[in-house]
Amino acid sequence: PVRVRFCPSPTGNPHVGLVRTALFNWAYARHNEGTLVFRIEDTDAARDSEESYEQLLDSMRWLGFDWDEGPEVGGPHAPYRQSQRMDIYKDVAAKLIDGGYAYPCYCTTEELDARREAARAAGKPSGYDGHCRDLTAEQIQAYEAEGRKHIIRFRMPDEATTFTDLVRGEITVQAENVTDYGIVRANGAPLYTLVNPVDDALMEITHVLRGEDLLSSTPRQIALYKALIELGIAKGIPEFGHLPYVMGEGNKKLSKRDPQASLNLYRERGFLPEGLLNYLSLLGWSFSADQDVFSISDMVAKFDLADVNANPARFDLKKAEAINADHIRMLDVKTFAEACEPWLKAPHANWAPEEFDEAAWQAIAPHAQTRLKVLSEITDNVDFLFRAEPVFDEPSWTKAMKEGSDALLRTARAKLDAADWTSPESLKEAVLAAGEEHGLKLGKAQAPVRVAVTGRTIGLPLFESLEILGKEKALTRIDAALA
Ligand code: GLU
Repeated sequence: PVRVRFCPSPTGNPHVGLVRTALFNWAYARHNEGTLVFRIEDTDAARDSEESYEQLLDSMRWLGFDWDEGPEVGGPHAPYRQSQRMDIYKDVAAKLIDGGYAYPCYCTTEELDARREAARAAGKPSGYDGHCRDLTAEQIQAYEAEGRKHIIRFRMPDEATTFTDLVRGEITVQAENVTDYGIVRANGAPLYTLVNPVDDALMEITHVLRGEDLLSSTPRQIALYKALIELGIAKGIPEFGHLPYVMGEGNKKLSKRDPQASLNLYRERGFLPEGLLNYLSLLGWSFSADQDVFSISDMVAKFDLADVNANPARFDLKKAEAINADHIRMLDVKTFAEACEPWLKAPHANWAPEEFDEAAWQAIAPHAQTRLKVLSEITDNVDFLFRAEPVFDEPSWTKAMKEGSDALLRTARAKLDAADWTSPESLKEAVLAAGEEHGLKLGKAQAPVRVAVTGRTIGLPLFESLEILGKEKALTRIDAALA
């Protein structure tokens, strides 16, 4: 049975790279009817926070993920927060030392730095040089007597590591490139290098799917796994698959701190979870050669690691928005209207809460649905319906109210006055006819009407907008623009 894990550290805001990793693990678990373990890697008290933990959970729920073991759901390997598993790590570290797999290292940072520099200068590998590998009891005693502190270091075997990455194929790393590494700090705090593979072993993880940035830790973890198997703690070595880097602006790796990487940004702008996940799934995977838009359940049905690409993926905001727009259009109109509520009902500058008109909103919603890329665009698109006067957007007015616009607006007003206000078609005829009188095509003729009525040069379909706003208000606004 497939057992995968998503194991973020609660530091800072969730970012899109993290979401992509969660998505691939979740999809792999669901596709294979396996188990998704959600584990919180919060052993770094200086960087982890409760607030960030709450945010992670909230984000996972908002995205629509579920997990079979982890916070809030429990499971046979509880607890799932590493901060509550410290005794386990202490115990495993002691067993590793007893078995000769790890040893205390008394080298100070200064000593390590000096020797590393010297090795570099001599053109030799600059990893840990094995100084404390085989200390005698007397040497240890002498260091202790000096008052030196020690970390615990894992003893790497003196042989190359070869493994088959599920995304990249066979990978071999030479022994001199992976030297003995720290697993417990001098203050006794266990490090990621220990707790992550120990928990993967205890939680019987079968597939480790994570970002390429962690590829370099895999040979170390495989060696640690072998020790854990010999100690009877692990049953086997999981398979590893490293997901490609996500590149941002200027083809640079998208960093966690990049504002464009923040999940909250997409949530606040009104991405639908499905739209965002659809887009993120394309960062390293593809549904088919000719289809970019699909539902998440279709994605799960098709998801296979064999289709994950090792090449870096480029984060493209425009494409993300276009895909989200498609997902907005795929909603039924009632769901769309409800999804807009957080923006419509939020206290904002566009209109006062008591100006909101439910009937007008229900009438315009289907027209808005076909135009939005993200839900937050809704307020600017419908505020003309609720406000006493349109938003006065200076650049729009100057752009639309060119020389001659007054004459056109006057003609349009007269024709609109005579039109049938229950029919957008009739309103269109009126503006079309006004344009003809002034030698203008519909596009040019409707611009001043749109700005006079909505305040903006772009927006929802104009004639439906006019009909919903109503004759009286619309003509009053045209009169105001002419005054
Ligand atoms: N807590 C680690 C991180 O956030 C997990 C890495 C892994 O998947 O092994 O990067």
